[in-house]
Amino acid sequence: MQLKILVWLSLVFSPSLMALPALSVVEVEQGIYVHFGQHQFPNKTNHGAIANIGFIIGEQCVAVIDTGGNPEQGYALKKAIEKITDTPVCYVINTHVHPDHIYGNIAFKQPNVKFIGHKNLARAMATRSHYYIDKAAEQLDVHLLAKDIIAPTKEVKRQLMIDLGNRKLMLTAHPTAHTDNDLSVLDKKTNSVWLSDLLFVKHIPVLDGSLKGWLKVLNQLEQHDYKTVIPGHGAVVRDWPKSMQPEKQYLERLLIEIRAMLAKGQFIEQAIEQVGYSEKSKWLLFDKYHKRNVTSAFAELEWED
Ligand SMILES: [Zn+2]
Repeated sequence: MQLKILVWLSLVFSPSLMALPALSVVEVEQGIYVHFGQHQFPNKTNHGAIANIGFIIGEQCVAVIDTGGNPEQGYALKKAIEKITDTPVCYVINTHVHPDHIYGNIAFKQPNVKFIGHKNLARAMATRSHYYIDKAAEQLDVHLLAKDIIAPTKEVKRQLMIDLGNRKLMLTAHPTAHTDNDLSVLDKKTNSVWLSDLLFVKHIPVLDGSLKGWLKVLNQLEQHDYKTVIPGHGAVVRDWPKSMQPEKQYLERLLIEIRAMLAKGQFIEQAIEQVGYSEKSKWLLFDKYHKRNVTSAFAELEWED
């Protein structure tokens, strides 16, 4: 009897379980749950858990969409799913390579779970994993091993339809935009699309792919009549494409101002100090990412025809 109590106590109060924070999720459409990240720069306090992550429930399967900024957040997401449904997780969909979206993958590694990503995702993971693992320890106090970065077992070249049981999801692999491995998820049942970091709301857009490519993708997405749109950072959007305009304007401003500087033969240093500052008051974390965005955009536009 005493032994049983001890076993029970050690299970209930084991450090790993106690340390696991409950993850808040909101049902934004029938069967679509989102945990909304805070607008913060990844650091040792938030351990990189800053992105919107979540899941979609069908009659036979659950699809997880992004797993969080560290393994613990992945386990917390798993626990949040189990609280809501007995339906098994069949798919983990990673929307792109950024650490705040993929570091919880290990929590879902099971033989019957398929990991799905853009055709370029595995390559991006392989190229960046050493750097990412070092940075995670240094900047986030998150200690990862190579095995925690789980590459897709199923790659999307252009589009892939998966069925969760009376619920079809259309996965689209986009041309280079926010990154070179952006994948969006359209839930046909509710006409909701999970754009992840193709859309930033209030949090300044972060450019790690192609400025021109991203604007092109936004112009295509703008033609659709989505009911609900889930960004990678920021609140859910129900007035598409209105809430996307600030992001489009920010990216267009970079494009116009950098092209003008290049035409005058000006240099990247000047661009970093001058381009896009009229946008500053519109965005959170502007000081953390804007100069980097200009640097990246300048390098891209410098070589255009
Ligand atoms: Zn991202």
